[in-house]
Amino acid sequence: MLSLTAISPEVLARYEAVIGLEVHVQLLTRSKIFCSCSTRFGDPPNSNTCPVCLGLPGALPVLNREAVTMAMKAALALNCAVHPRSRFARKNYFYPDLPKGYQISQYDEPLASAGWLDIEVAGKAKRIGVTRVHLEEDAGKSLHEGFPDSDRKSYIDLNRSGVPLIEIVSEPDLRTPEEAYDYLTRLKTLMLYLEVSNCNMEEGSLRCDANVSVRRAGRTAFGTKTEVKNLNSFKFLQKALAHEIERQIGVLEEGGEILQETRLWDSREQRTYGMRSKEFAHDYRYFPEPDLLPLVISEEWKEEVRRSMPELPEAKRARFVDQYGLGDYDAAQLTSSKALADYFEEAVRRAGEPKLSANWILSELSHLLKEAGKEIAESPVSPERLAELLALVAKGTLSGKMGKDILAEMFSTGRAASEIVAGKGFEQISDPEKIAAVGREIMAANPKQVEQYRGGKAALLGWFVGQVMKATGGRANPQLVQEILKKELGS
Ligand code: ADP
Ligand code: ZN
Ligand code: MG
Repeated sequence: MLSLTAISPEVLARYEAVIGLEVHVQLLTRSKIFCSCSTRFGDPPNSNTCPVCLGLPGALPVLNREAVTMAMKAALALNCAVHPRSRFARKNYFYPDLPKGYQISQYDEPLASAGWLDIEVAGKAKRIGVTRVHLEEDAGKSLHEGFPDSDRKSYIDLNRSGVPLIEIVSEPDLRTPEEAYDYLTRLKTLMLYLEVSNCNMEEGSLRCDANVSVRRAGRTAFGTKTEVKNLNSFKFLQKALAHEIERQIGVLEEGGEILQETRLWDSREQRTYGMRSKEFAHDYRYFPEPDLLPLVISEEWKEEVRRSMPELPEAKRARFVDQYGLGDYDAAQLTSSKALADYFEEAVRRAGEPKLSANWILSELSHLLKEAGKEIAESPVSPERLAELLALVAKGTLSGKMGKDILAEMFSTGRAASEIVAGKGFEQISDPEKIAAVGREIMAANPKQVEQYRGGKAALLGWFVGQVMKATGGRANPQLVQEILKKELGS
């Protein structure tokens, strides 16, 4: 096989990739999908279990209404048709952490289908089809420890067994790893806005499998796809796709054929490798789940769910542009998470300075948060406190530079701006009399410069301003200083 680095950009350019994502999202219900066990993460192994999620014979599932409501929210936000009737099915396979020997999922009658999600490509919207959204239960977790192999032990934790998931399948509409990344980012943002999942990738609340094929540019027929699993970060998704696209092109350039198979991404070796062939196209022997009635969703229920949905990112972004006069970029940044958008709106509600607030939140505050490794929700400076600071900056009581120093101090000490300002004599000097007095002192001490200025060397004004700023420890209002000095110096 060709080594990956041997494929030239010219050869790569002769191909186009086709990508479709299958995303699993764990729903934030308190109890599991078919029993009342807790879904809490990190509890002692097998403590959140009962006959239903242990798969004991004779135990019967009862559908969790909240899981359906959350799944509906996700489906509606993805512009899907939510079907009045859908059905659960058994997907049969053997795995040690699947005690029943089948997973309850949905198959030929999913909860919802035919939606879309808009992504952005080179500044323009591109619509990605969403094939379906269906409900299913999660399996348990196998844990392996001990090396060498002779000491190896495996454990099974069934706390996760029966936790509700939705699977969101995209159409093969994505064309580059960057598009796939953008799609997953927007999908995650949407789920977080809806508060149907915490989308925590490390805890497995958001999982993504990527299907990818390549074809000669200009062809319409799809090539044979592989499915890449084990993508537990956004970065891995992008890297694995880039790698897999090059690998497939390499095989085709050598006259080889792509095997339809499942491949695993190895982040240490930065490559994918074959796991199982899909030639036999899994036969899961799906059949309708006999222990559950079809899921019937009334128009009223659906409308009730629709009404309960929050404003979604796109709508919020447009409103921020309209209502606050923000630029597109700032509006997009501020609505990248609901927590950030809420923070901004709370600050503006109090300080009434949308542009100033946007600037400070996106630059100074974001910078401090990033350095401290904190999320906006954990900000030591509340929106109320930030608003108080910004009001002082807007009034000119504090210069921008002082404001920044004070914000840093508010961030590290949790104290309010007014407290810090009072304690430090930090206030900006805006009293014209005080400034004029300092100016006159400096003029008296520098008669030669005064003479030169009056003789026509106008550029010296800047030097005088600098002297006043120095004498006041940078606290004088520079604009006022300029005006007053001009007057004092005359011509
Ligand atoms: P399977 O039967 O293997 O599960 P599906 O047709 O259900 O395949 O599609 C699963 C995922 O693969 C979907 O996200 C779909 O968009 C994507 N997909 C289908 N065909 C291709 C292809 N030729 N190349 C890339 N992705 C594809
Ligand atoms: Zn249970
Ligand atoms: Mg499929």
